[in-house]
Amino acid sequence: MTAALRTRVALRDGEDITAFLQRTCAANFTTIEDVTGYRASARVWEDPPPDLLVRVAAVTGITTEQLRAATLLGAFPGVPPARARIGRRWAGETATCTGCGIQTVAARLNVIVLCPLCRSPLTDRQPSPAAPVPTGIGPIHDEVMDTLAAAAQDRHARDRLRRLESLMAEFEPALWRNWPPLAEGETQTWRDWIVRWHVHQRAISGYLVRPPEVSLTSLLHTWAASADPERTRRYLDEFALAADRWQPTQRERPGWDTLEQAVPGLQRKLRRLKLHPHHVPTILRRPGESIILPEHLRTRRTAEALALTLHAGLAHHLIDSLHAAERVHGTQASPRARRVARLILASPFDLGVLAVQASTLHAAGLQDRHRLRGALAGLDKTPTSLTRQLHAAAAAFPDVQILAAAWVWLDATAGRLAGGAHPQLAPATVLAFDDTLDGHDRDLLRAWWHTHTNTLNRPPRGVARAGS
Ligand SMILES: [Zn+2]
Repeated sequence: MTAALRTRVALRDGEDITAFLQRTCAANFTTIEDVTGYRASARVWEDPPPDLLVRVAAVTGITTEQLRAATLLGAFPGVPPARARIGRRWAGETATCTGCGIQTVAARLNVIVLCPLCRSPLTDRQPSPAAPVPTGIGPIHDEVMDTLAAAAQDRHARDRLRRLESLMAEFEPALWRNWPPLAEGETQTWRDWIVRWHVHQRAISGYLVRPPEVSLTSLLHTWAASADPERTRRYLDEFALAADRWQPTQRERPGWDTLEQAVPGLQRKLRRLKLHPHHVPTILRRPGESIILPEHLRTRRTAEALALTLHAGLAHHLIDSLHAAERVHGTQASPRARRVARLILASPFDLGVLAVQASTLHAAGLQDRHRLRGALAGLDKTPTSLTRQLHAAAAAFPDVQILAAAWVWLDATAGRLAGGAHPQLAPATVLAFDDTLDGHDRDLLRAWWHTHTNTLNRPPRGVARAGS
């Protein structure tokens, strides 16, 4: 640590400790790293240990109390920085105020999108939408600041922030150009930019840095719903429905306007296709989709599978409740998937979507998924004699026998991991394994489960089937 710096600089109201240190060091022709041993982007500045603050106080002449108030956890003691939507922005990418230009400590949080000092929008190095900031954000910003200030002492404030985090997370994949309706002061130009950003980020990397404009939009559409658990739940159900961008074309979809048309229409179709509950997988995947769907699609597609199983049961007088549909699936659905299934059952439009899903299942060849689930539920490993025949890259996977068993389960049942021997396996690992398989490997595994499940169903030698 160097001696006290000769040129003193005042800590501005609301300024972040690293912004202050950078100005101080620049005025003394040195750097923050030389003076403190840490880079400006180091996470230590979110909550510096007392001895570091004492050292910084000694060289800058600012009290440790003032310095502490210029750190993230000093300014917002109740905030969980690790939350991806409301917590810290990526440390290397700070947001700045477009008005006063002060780098406020508040800009370290995703959930703060206006400058607390001058209320101008925050921005970062990414380009911004060429449209005015939606005016509806102003009052929301004030309530967010109050909630953050209360969070250290008030459990209700912390609960609201927790609900807000989950709402903002699930809002992102559900945002369309035209859904939900534009908020107060939100223009179509603004919305298009935000949607393009999401689509681009999904394509390249996932979400590392959210520009303040993106967080602003999520906040704008979710803050009111975070007020209580019931509204939060209702919104999350709607997000799960809206997150699926696949929709049948106008031509594919039956033109049912009312439940009185849709319910008998769907059941007539299921009788014509001879589609029974045992034909329906535990999740509905579209042709070309990955063997494990991205998380944001899983709730809706599980709910569609439940609703379709129920209607197939009603059409053939076999089952008459969602509960019974779950029993056919051999695994429980989440409470949310059940709620979303009820929303689907009450919507003529979504029953039309089910009719198209039924045609897709039929076109791919109906299989007795219930029988396959029963035959493969206990399969936790495939034999080494099988995995040895996979080509080298696949065979070299750690736990290849387990992964092959999970792959076989998914391929044969066309459903979810749930209900099989490895419900908790990380989807990324299974997808990486799937990615390694070539055509020969797939044929090999598929031929194996065909033989394996048929052998299991064959009666022991010398015992005739009843009635044969
Ligand atoms: Zn400002």
